[in-house]
Amino acid sequence: MQISGDPNRFLSLASTIDQELLRPSMMAIEMHAGQCLYASGDEVRKVFFPHSGLVVMTMSIHNRPAAGIVLIGNDGVIGGLSATACAPANCNAEVLISGRATWIPAVEYRFALAQSAAISNLAARFDNALMAQAQQTALCNATHHVQARFCRWLLEIYDRTGSTIPLKQATLGRMLGVRRTTVTMVSVRLEKDGVLRSRRGSIEIMKRDDLERHCCECYQRAKSFAKTVFVAGDKDQSLATANAAAAPVPTSAVRQ
Ligand SMILES: [Zn+2]
Repeated sequence: MQISGDPNRFLSLASTIDQELLRPSMMAIEMHAGQCLYASGDEVRKVFFPHSGLVVMTMSIHNRPAAGIVLIGNDGVIGGLSATACAPANCNAEVLISGRATWIPAVEYRFALAQSAAISNLAARFDNALMAQAQQTALCNATHHVQARFCRWLLEIYDRTGSTIPLKQATLGRMLGVRRTTVTMVSVRLEKDGVLRSRRGSIEIMKRDDLERHCCECYQRAKSFAKTVFVAGDKDQSLATANAAAAPVPTSAVRQ
């Protein structure tokens, strides 16, 4: 399976040596909208690396539809945290927009992390960015108006899939934990301003900059945090790689 130049960010950031660790156990999967990759409480047996499409992590409470927490497209990894901890899934992983992914067994993912400090560090950075996104969503839900939250979700989706968002208003309402009629009301307002155009079963973003102006600060905060995590991590990795290259290899470290 090809990894070099892979559209999945995790795989593309892994070094050639680390890619060789992952490659033998990688398998391809088509993800279909509405498919559940795993449900809350499940043992996570597979770790997914999306190449296209979009997955949302959701949670539900009694008698309420599952609402969205974080989005993962080709910028992330699904199931990595639970697989690393050998812990059951704490939320559902639902395919929101169909696409392709690569998966490896959780046991092979743990093996790769144990074998390579670099890939372990890479996984920690992705987990950190994911956690930041979840925390930002919790704060956003508690403090910001539904229109700003709606715009944030549209921007997050736009960044991962493009300007045409193939989702119904009812689905977006469930993600936000609000009624469909509330999403319709907000959409009509934004459509009047020329920001977007609603169609049957999809939303077209017409003016991304205006959408960002209607959004709360949460979008930029999560985005800039992720950027910081990866820039800082890249510097550490460059230093570690340079140090490893400069240091003599002890005889005991050479695999016989
Ligand atoms: Zn917010």
